[in-house]
Amino acid sequence: MYRGKSITQLREELDSEKVTPEDLFSKANQLAHYFQDDYNSFVTIIDKCKYRKSDSKLNGIPYALKDNFSTTGILTTASSNILKDYVPVYDATVYKKLKDAGAILVGKTVLDELAMGGTGTTGHTGVVKNPWDKECMIGGSSAGSAASVALGIVPFSIGSDTGDSVRKPASHGGLVGFKPTYGRISRYGLFAFASSLDHVAMFARNVKDVAIVTDILKGKDPNDMVTLNDDDKCYADLLDKDIKGKKLFYIKEMCGKDAYKDIDDKDLSEVISTFHEMLDKLRKKGFIIEEVSVDKTLLEAIYPTYMVISCAEATSNNSNLTGIQFGPRGEGNSIEEIMFDARTKGFSELIKRRFILGSYILQKENQEKLFLNAGRIRHIIVDKMNELFKEYDGMIAPCSGGPAQKFESTSEKLSDRYLILENHLAIGNFGGFPSITVPYAMIDDMPVGLNITGRVREDDLVLNIAYKIEEETGLKDIYSKVGDIDV
Ligand code: GLN
Repeated sequence: MYRGKSITQLREELDSEKVTPEDLFSKANQLAHYFQDDYNSFVTIIDKCKYRKSDSKLNGIPYALKDNFSTTGILTTASSNILKDYVPVYDATVYKKLKDAGAILVGKTVLDELAMGGTGTTGHTGVVKNPWDKECMIGGSSAGSAASVALGIVPFSIGSDTGDSVRKPASHGGLVGFKPTYGRISRYGLFAFASSLDHVAMFARNVKDVAIVTDILKGKDPNDMVTLNDDDKCYADLLDKDIKGKKLFYIKEMCGKDAYKDIDDKDLSEVISTFHEMLDKLRKKGFIIEEVSVDKTLLEAIYPTYMVISCAEATSNNSNLTGIQFGPRGEGNSIEEIMFDARTKGFSELIKRRFILGSYILQKENQEKLFLNAGRIRHIIVDKMNELFKEYDGMIAPCSGGPAQKFESTSEKLSDRYLILENHLAIGNFGGFPSITVPYAMIDDMPVGLNITGRVREDDLVLNIAYKIEEETGLKDIYSKVGDIDV
C-alpha cells in the first residue's frame, strides 16, 4: 500500500527494493486522477514519469508543486485566467533542486488566484475541498498542495507562504507545514506576490520529512540575492536534541485561557482548552512555557499592516501581467485599451480589490501615511518579538480560532472577534522567522494545528522543538482515509 505513507516510510521501501520510483509515481498518478473531481487538488496532473536518479533522500519520492512555481514546458497558471495558457521557459530553483534530487513531480496544484487569499476558493479552475470534510475549505492559498498531501496522494508538496498560506492550510489539513527563515530557500521562479514577505514553504506528514525537504532546498542561490549562505547543518540529523529547559511563550491576549471568555463559540473555546491541555503535557516533557502580555493594539495591527504592505507590493509585482507579454491578448485599439481589457477579464474580484487598494496605498500623497507607516509598525512588531526571543526560544500558539470552516461561512472578511488568533501567523513573515505548524488535536473529527515561531536563522531549533512536540500529540503521519481506493 502506497497511499498515505511518509517520505521516511517510502525511503525504506525504496532502499530495500520493495518498490521502484516508477511504481510510486504510477500509484500517485492513479490517486491524483481518482480524487481530482471531488477535491480538485491539481491544475495539471503529470502522466509521464520523469525521473532523474540521484543518491539523495528524496530520490524516487513523488511530490506536488504549487502552480506559481515556474516549470519549463509545463503549464503554470498561478490559478489565474490571465496566465491560463502560460508555459514557462525556465525552472524555479526549487523545481530544479527537486529534479536534481530525484524527486518525481506528480502535478501542479491549485492555489487562490496569484496566491492571494486564504480559502482555496478563488482559483480559475475551481474550489479545493477539504479531505477531512468535503463541505469545508482546506484554506489557502496553497490549497491544492495541502489537499494532495492530506488525501495521501503524495508524501510532501511545495507551497508558498506570504502571510500564512502554508501554515494555516496545514492546520486545517492535519499536516505539518514549515516556512523556514526568509532567504533560507531561493524564491527564484516563484511568482512574486509580496517580495518582502514571500517564502517558499512545504507540507509533509511529519516533522522529520519537512526537515529532509528543507535540507534539499536550502542554500545560497545567485539568482536570489537574499538567500542565506550560513547553514550547512543537516536539519534532519538535529531533530532529537534534548529540549529540557527550552523556553516558550504564549501571548495572553492571543490565546490565554481567558482571552475570549465573553465570546460564545464552541470551536474557539475548544481550541483554547485543547491548546492549554497540550501546554501542560509539554511542560511535563521538560519545556518551560510562560504567559507574556503584549499590547493588544499592536496585535490588532497585524492584519491591517499585512494588508497594506502585501497589497502594495502585489500591485507593483503583478504590473507585468498586462496581457501583452503573457496570457490571452486583450482587445482594443491602444496599449491602454488592450491592457484594460486583459486585466478586466483576467482577474477575479478579489484580485481587483487588492490592486485598487495597492494602487491607492502607493499613490504619492498616500505613501508616507500608509505604506511607510505600515513598514514602521511592522518593525515595532518584529522588535517586540526579538525582545521576547532574547529570553525565549520560541512562541507557541494555535494556528487559528477553530478547525476549517464550511464553505458557506467563508468570505474574505474575517471576524473581528478572532482577528488576532486568525492572523498572527503573518508575524513570521514580517520578521522572516522560521515558523512551523504541527497538528495537535481533533475537534469534531477535524484537525487543528499549533504553531511554533522562532528566532531568525535558527531553523534547526524550531524543527527540534516541533519534533519533540509531535511526540506528544499522537497525530503524526495522519491523513484522511476518505474514498474507496486501495493502492
Ligand atoms: N491569507 C493571506 C492573504 O490573503 C495570506 C496569503 C499567502 O500567504 N499567500 O493574503
